[in-house]
Amino acid sequence: MSSPISIAVIGGGPAGLMAAEVLAAAGQAVTVFDAKPSVGRKFLLAGKGGLNLTHSEPLEPFVGRFGARAAQIAPLLRGFDVDALRAWAAALGVDTFVGTSGRVFPKDLKAAPLLRAWLQRLRAAGVKFAMRHRWTGWTDDGALRFDTPDGERLVTPRATLLALGGASWPQLGSDGAWAPWLAARGVDVAPLQPANCGFDVGPTAAHAGGPGWSERFATEFAGQPVKPVALETAGFAARPGEFVITASGIEGSLVYAASAALREQIARDGSAKLHLDLLPQLTPERVLADVKHPRGSRSLSSHLKSRLHLSPLKLGLLHELLTREQMLDAPTLAAALKHLPLTLHAARPVAEAISTAGGVRFEALTDGLMLRALPGVFVAGEMLDWEAPTGGYLLTACFASGRAAAQGLLATL
Ligand SMILES: Cc1cc2nc3c(=O)[nH]c(=O)nc-3n(C[C@H](O)[C@H](O)[C@H](O)COP(=O)(O)OP(=O)(O)OC[C@H]3O[C@@H](n4cnc5c(N)ncnc54)[C@H](O)[C@@H]3O)c2cc1C
Repeated sequence: MSSPISIAVIGGGPAGLMAAEVLAAAGQAVTVFDAKPSVGRKFLLAGKGGLNLTHSEPLEPFVGRFGARAAQIAPLLRGFDVDALRAWAAALGVDTFVGTSGRVFPKDLKAAPLLRAWLQRLRAAGVKFAMRHRWTGWTDDGALRFDTPDGERLVTPRATLLALGGASWPQLGSDGAWAPWLAARGVDVAPLQPANCGFDVGPTAAHAGGPGWSERFATEFAGQPVKPVALETAGFAARPGEFVITASGIEGSLVYAASAALREQIARDGSAKLHLDLLPQLTPERVLADVKHPRGSRSLSSHLKSRLHLSPLKLGLLHELLTREQMLDAPTLAAALKHLPLTLHAARPVAEAISTAGGVRFEALTDGLMLRALPGVFVAGEMLDWEAPTGGYLLTACFASGRAAAQGLLATL
């Protein structure tokens, strides 16, 4: 069966829904196709973490978060900036606030009310939704092919907008299966890689056969936060924050922030090295003086605990990462407390990551986000080749690119 559809938006995440909104507002007949039974599943998951919609910092530092892609992201954000995004949410009945870190959240910290109001408005504007439609590419004569519960459906729209997401959390719908299909059609696609991801450690002094922590350390500390702490690595200046110990490594906000630098080191050198400051509030001199302070009959652990208030987890990290000789040499131990080396062996798989690096390269696109190799096909959202840290940058770029691609599409009609 082949049905005429005016404009097909494939992928009902934030980018696809925003594109559908712009297209419907311009009077186009739009159908949003999605593989899942409902749209916006990853958006709803983001709501579990408070839904960090965007960031209040000025445009220049904001686009700087996109690193090598800042120049390509800047025009998208000029078309839909932080104020526009906040006004858009307010028009849906969702007021936002700026947190102490500058991050912007809905007042109720939830995604569901926003998504519900948005879908209602989209339906009222005439947007149709075709769920359980998994796009699988094109037929030889250019029709879109969908796997549906009723068998294959072919659709021949006037134009197509792809907003299929990256490859993280595939259980929510975006599985990156599109990457080889587009590449086979001559589209330049950078390999999909984990971004804002965790890492496996190893080898460690206590588990020289690594990777991973020693069983004793993992059993005792997996799931616990390391805080306060500062982390630095090549290409990432020392930054205070916190992260979490996992069964085989580390994850959490500070690790995500450093993840691009760490991933690149691993790709280049086979492993990455970072340094931790376990006592960021104390000077090296003070730490050395406390470590050297006579401890009488006390064990080294209780000495460090009482003089430096080291938590069991931070003590555990020292025992995991230093040899016995290093632990017993006061200057070496004091230096390690301020600059503890940790080797990372691999990034966790993209399926577990918060977001995806890589995707359709901007060089493969016109300014209106149309694929040069496939005229009439537009691309938006996380399937584009950009990456950014957490902080609201990801959703902002998805919304902004959804709008830009829809406007690019309208300009060609
Ligand atoms: C745990 C978690 C928390 C996050 N928190 C935040 C946050 O607080 N702030 C922030 O800015 N970002 C956050 N993000 C990132 C943000 O959610 C994503 O960047 C964003 O959802 C990507 O939007 P998108 O529209 O490009 O793709 P997606 O939201 O992934 O949507 C893609 C859609 O395409 C559909 N699809 C995929 N392939 C096909 C196919 N072949 N056929 C049909 N349909 C298909 C999928 O089912 C899906 O509905 C978080 C991510 C995760 C995993």
